[in-house]
Amino acid sequence: MSTIAAVSTPNAVGGLAVIRISGDKAIEIAEAVFRPVGGKKVSDMKGYTCAYGDAYDGDEHIDDCILTVFRAPHSYTGEDTAEISCHGGLYVSKKILRAILKNGAENAEAGEFTKRAFLNGKLDLTQAEAVMDIISARGEKELKMAESLREGAAYRTARKCSDKLMKILGDLAAWADYPEEDIPEVEPDALMKELREVRSDLSTLVENYDSGRLIREGISTAIIGRPNVGKSTLFNCLSGCERSIVTDIAGTTRDIVEESVRLGDITLRLSDTAGIHDTDDVIEGIGVDMAEKMIDKAELVLAVFDGSCPLTEDDLYLVNKINKDKTIAVINKSDVDLKLDINELTKYFIHFVYVSAKENSGVIDLKNMVEEIFSINEQTFENVSAANERQKKCIDSALRSIDEAISALEIGEMLDAVNVIIDEAEQSILSLTGEKITDAVVDEVFSRFCVGK
Ligand code: GDP
Ligand code: MG
Repeated sequence: MSTIAAVSTPNAVGGLAVIRISGDKAIEIAEAVFRPVGGKKVSDMKGYTCAYGDAYDGDEHIDDCILTVFRAPHSYTGEDTAEISCHGGLYVSKKILRAILKNGAENAEAGEFTKRAFLNGKLDLTQAEAVMDIISARGEKELKMAESLREGAAYRTARKCSDKLMKILGDLAAWADYPEEDIPEVEPDALMKELREVRSDLSTLVENYDSGRLIREGISTAIIGRPNVGKSTLFNCLSGCERSIVTDIAGTTRDIVEESVRLGDITLRLSDTAGIHDTDDVIEGIGVDMAEKMIDKAELVLAVFDGSCPLTEDDLYLVNKINKDKTIAVINKSDVDLKLDINELTKYFIHFVYVSAKENSGVIDLKNMVEEIFSINEQTFENVSAANERQKKCIDSALRSIDEAISALEIGEMLDAVNVIIDEAEQSILSLTGEKITDAVVDEVFSRFCVGK
């Protein structure tokens, strides 16, 4: 395999930058570019050692650096690897990379280091995918979820199920192929029991998929309401900055303003919308149409009401459009006297919170309500679950085959037929872990990575 190289640190100015080289020629190429100050030879360096020295492009000095050497198979990729840490300038790091490429390395593609780690058996596919989730994690809980996958939590469950299925397949094959030998008959009841165990283990991996996905991707949330109820003030209060313009003039917000905000351990992908009401203004009218569309599109709707006055025609127009399961009625302006009759709203909503967007109060109640609606609790973060659509599809397909095998046994199908179905379940698990998978799927998984990882 070729030797690859990339700048592994972000494409920005920083204290340090790291250029990574991996492959058979990694050490040889590092030696061509890097000269240790002590005169030691790079090719004599042992794994897990580093040297201080200078990076050169031919005879041109580039920067003083640290070189760290990893020897195969004890490296991230499983190959010989060299990492050069230089000053974190964009130009310096690119110049060192260019010198490395001149000496025979190739530009690494997105995720190629991790792909090599996978191909060299350092990680299974679920662990490799978790690496990207660790990089993308925005909070402690997301990081924990990704960490447990990288440590192989999903892999272990998948392995256990795969081993059980392999044993069943082995028993079935032995019994079918050597009928004259004294091999105990495979009992359909015992087989069914074993399949149910595998089913139960595998289904733990998809049970929490939806809440896990919401944690990773954030919940798309629309703030809607008639003009002047305080939607933009709530948006700013949640985003912690003056992002959306607030005035007491109705029709101020016309476009949709978006921001990702953290609410405890959850991310809301928040949209502030134009106040929904009848308007003759063409531009505002477009904003109102967009707001109405957001009600359907969003996974969560915060329907804002002004608590300081009774419900209006425009409020009532709006309540008829909402889906109450995914909507929280947010009664705003709780810092002033309540004039809104909450009983009128109970017909339309099941979830209520009182807030004062202006004084920043009630946000914790809002957070608790969101967690309740989406069943997000400590368990969500602790349970191991599929990390993406690809993994979920593999598990779902294995579960479907196992169900099919159980039904076949129930109606007394021949064991040969059942054998074929169980083999399909096994194949699905092997594609989950990446033990049997097409190159195209592997390429697709790693293309979502960043260059240098
Ligand atoms: P929007 O049209 O729904 O986006 O409403 P804005 O956020 O622009 O606010 C409309 C008016 O209500 C502004 O004068 C805000 O200062 C005021 N307002 C918003 N939230 C509160 C609140 O919690 N308490 C009080 N007393 N006034 C608020
Ligand atoms: Mg507004």
